[in-house]
Amino acid sequence: MNYVPPDNDLGHGGRVVTKEVMSQRNLWLFVSFIILPVALVIGGMYMSKLFRQLNSSQLQAAITSQGESQASSVLSTVSSVPAVPQAEPTSTSAPAAMSGVTNKPAISTAEAASVANIQKPLVVTIKSKDNLKKLFKRNGLNEKDALAILAIKKASSLKNLHAGKKISLTLDATKTKLQVLEYKLDDLTTLVVTARKSGWSVDTKHIKPTTKTKYAAATITGSIYTAGKRAGVPQKLVAQMVNAFSNRVNVKKIHDGDKFALLYNEYTLDGKKVRDSDIAVAELVHKGETHRIVSFTDSYGHTNFYTPQGHSIKPAFERYPVAFNHIGSRFSHARHHPILGTVRAHTGVDLSADRGAPIKATGNGKIVFAGTSGGYGNVVRIKHGIYETVYAHLSRFSNKVYTGGYVKQGDVIGYVGSSGLATGPHLHYELRVNGVPHDPLKVKLPSGQMIASEHRNRFFALSKKVLSQLDSYRKGIVKSES
Ligand SMILES: [Zn+2]
Repeated sequence: MNYVPPDNDLGHGGRVVTKEVMSQRNLWLFVSFIILPVALVIGGMYMSKLFRQLNSSQLQAAITSQGESQASSVLSTVSSVPAVPQAEPTSTSAPAAMSGVTNKPAISTAEAASVANIQKPLVVTIKSKDNLKKLFKRNGLNEKDALAILAIKKASSLKNLHAGKKISLTLDATKTKLQVLEYKLDDLTTLVVTARKSGWSVDTKHIKPTTKTKYAAATITGSIYTAGKRAGVPQKLVAQMVNAFSNRVNVKKIHDGDKFALLYNEYTLDGKKVRDSDIAVAELVHKGETHRIVSFTDSYGHTNFYTPQGHSIKPAFERYPVAFNHIGSRFSHARHHPILGTVRAHTGVDLSADRGAPIKATGNGKIVFAGTSGGYGNVVRIKHGIYETVYAHLSRFSNKVYTGGYVKQGDVIGYVGSSGLATGPHLHYELRVNGVPHDPLKVKLPSGQMIASEHRNRFFALSKKVLSQLDSYRKGIVKSES
């Protein structure tokens, strides 16, 4: 209410109207009946012109930003996205085409212009044995453009088109020139190829799914698989859990009354499940003993399961160094030697295998001996900290094996034979702890390697967090997100 009309006294009855007031009144009458309408007309014309300019520039801005946002924003479905051609041809051609029409309201011409230039995308289904060149040709597009696009490394997924999937093609007004190509790589990723003045630009648009933390737990009756299914755990994760715990418990002996609990993430898009993460943390109570594993991705991108103490679940030792047919002689403190005819201890296990079968180091270590030694024949001894493994009767060594060298778990060190005192091809395998032979088939294998020191702080922080999360869910303090 800042504005006070100048003629606010005009209707004030009972007031003495002086000459001065009269002249003021005449002045205001003149202003209100002559000048104001004229000013309004002129102002209106000016305003409408201004408005017209504003509108078309706003529209152009809108078109431009729409064009840009289509290229940069996440595309949920290829077919449902209204295709907007590139901004440049739309905004430059529209005013030119409409320049002769001046008596029509600016807004409708601008709208008409923009609508006329928006082409609905052509959504085509990929046929079997289709390729981009064929697909372009079939849809009236230049095959050279297909080749130019395929030559771009980032567009390599267009080299192997999957029959049945769809490709969205947005064409220009002439319907002969490709403006935008969209190819959905998966539910969350779309490849977008856009025509630019400088050539083709290729981008991958990622949709960020909604992440829900899922908790599942069950007391096992029957198998762990049926218990998992009943608890609604995706089958993939049950298998992952079984595999992860298989080095710590005999999975076949998981029985009624054992329990498991686990946390994982479920990714959804528009309320629809897209996929599940791997297990984040899991717990298995077997024969009253609790085993826990935590998933951790190190700074090099390697993901592995670890015990809460930071040991890899991959054991430091594999149980068997060779694919064997059967066990010949077992570990024994006293047995009758088949060749010597005497009774003596058999400090290892004889694994009967095909001659020439590859023998793999059961753990990382240093080769302390690779050569020929009496009854052992060709033998390799590997030292792994307090452990030592012995592989005897080899037909030959791997050419990478030499005394003083290092091997990794799984490296082939030699081949099955019957060198030394052996009646037929087999591997005599020993495992010693602090120099004392143990039964390699029964000895409790040491837990996996400790997580590298550079990752330790981050691992323990994560491990603490997810384990307490798992506890909160188990105690019902927190509920699984639905
Ligand atoms: Zn033996």
